[in-house]
Amino acid sequence: MNKPSPEVLESFQSRLLGTLLRPSDPAYELARRVHNGMIDKRPALIARCQGTSDVVQAIRFAREHDIPVSVRGGGHNVSGRAVVDGGLVIDVAGMKGAHVDPEVRTVRAQAGLTWGEFNRETGVFGLATTGGVVSTTGVAGLTLGGGLGWLFGRYGLAIDNLLSAEIVDAEGRVRTASDEADPDLFWAIRGGGGNFGIATSFEFRLHPVKTVLGGIVAHPFDAAGEMLRFYREFTAELPDEATAFAGVLHAPDGSGTKIAALVLCHCGPESEAEAALKPAREFGSPIMDTVDRMPYETINGMLDGGFPRGALNHWKSSFLSELSDDAIEMVVERFAETPAPMSSILIEHFHGAATRVDPTATAFPHRTPGYNCAVITQWLDSSINQACIQWSRATYAAMQPFFGQGRYSNYMGDEEGDEVTAAAYGPNVPRLVELKRKYDPTNVFRLNQNIAP
Ligand SMILES: Cc1cc2nc3c(=O)[nH]c(=O)nc-3n(C[C@H](O)[C@H](O)[C@H](O)COP(=O)(O)OP(=O)(O)OC[C@H]3O[C@@H](n4cnc5c(N)ncnc54)[C@H](O)[C@@H]3O)c2cc1C
Repeated sequence: MNKPSPEVLESFQSRLLGTLLRPSDPAYELARRVHNGMIDKRPALIARCQGTSDVVQAIRFAREHDIPVSVRGGGHNVSGRAVVDGGLVIDVAGMKGAHVDPEVRTVRAQAGLTWGEFNRETGVFGLATTGGVVSTTGVAGLTLGGGLGWLFGRYGLAIDNLLSAEIVDAEGRVRTASDEADPDLFWAIRGGGGNFGIATSFEFRLHPVKTVLGGIVAHPFDAAGEMLRFYREFTAELPDEATAFAGVLHAPDGSGTKIAALVLCHCGPESEAEAALKPAREFGSPIMDTVDRMPYETINGMLDGGFPRGALNHWKSSFLSELSDDAIEMVVERFAETPAPMSSILIEHFHGAATRVDPTATAFPHRTPGYNCAVITQWLDSSINQACIQWSRATYAAMQPFFGQGRYSNYMGDEEGDEVTAAAYGPNVPRLVELKRKYDPTNVFRLNQNIAP
């Protein structure tokens, strides 16, 4: 790496519409922080890009001066790979344009939008597409990794609604990735993460979704095992329009009380929605039922309070081979011992449109109906870091006998190696390696769930 002189940095800034931050700038401290408060990296430079031309300038500058690069969208990835010690962060979070075409039901969305911001713009037209279940998560990282959310049973993953993307490649060239323009690149960015370039905008297909029926049905922790066994039966017959997650978690009132809950959403017609969610609302003796008709934007913000920016996070996840009684028992047993007062173990049901795509049709291979298990360890007090991380790892290890082969790359922490790559990309590894050699042979984009060229 060649340390650029002050004159070189001045010249770089003059070519940007956005701002180049250095450690001495007042805005630097906040800009280097991401969602996960465990991440404490000190980049040499942060280029806060305002448009595609800024991204082109930034990547060319990094190449010329041999500076390591990270790319930041919404900053939500728990691994913290959006920032880099001593390198250049290419930060697209300020790029927030969205243009909806209500006639053809598409949106062209810039890469810095969060899902909350995206949904505001599409919601004006009564339209939506599959995005994350938490509104503060970035459109960019979530989409490039696959993207599951409230609407994925009915409309597929975020990538299944992607029509094209504008990508700045490792040479600073602007490419269009679509089925027509560059099918290889388009295949690779739908699940292959940030390995192939920097996305500056995305074009998505939209669907008429104004309101949904959804909410949380909570039970005492004592009923967790019974509730999860009910959840297994309930999800066996779930229509595409319904999404149902279940888990053990802490009550949102901050009391530290452990509870079990069903998290529900139905995006279909009112009468069908009521009937589909009825069994989940009638099961057992709930201590809370917030299920109601609400705008799609509202359900997208429903869980935000449970995931505050800056909280300390350690995540582990894997798909289950099946949601067996023994797996359920282990979830309950492990959660009873968690020292992390905002943690949860979440079971996410995959079904419907997201599972009717061939595993090799896009780079995202996890298309079998079933369940993902996410150990979401979250806390605020840094004096208990060790205990929380240990619990997270031990819980993941205890769940190992119940896991299948695959793991969702977007939920991975700072994990790497051939085994991790195989779990994340499955049968798509050979083609991804071949395309990495084509689009990024020197691995400029390596701070991600990396595919080594
Ligand atoms: C609270 C919370 C809730 C979540 N909920 C969901 C959910 O409902 N569904 C789901 O599927 N996932 C969910 N996730 C996981 C989420 O998909 C990933 O963390 C994702 O990486 C976040 O994207 P981001 O842009 O916010 O993150 P960032 O940390 O900014 O980016 C993550 C990585 O993506 C790449 N990247 C980001 N922007 C670009 C770009 N413009 N061009 C190229 N590469 C880029 C980079 O490699 C970067 O390191 C959640 C995560 C959190 C913390």
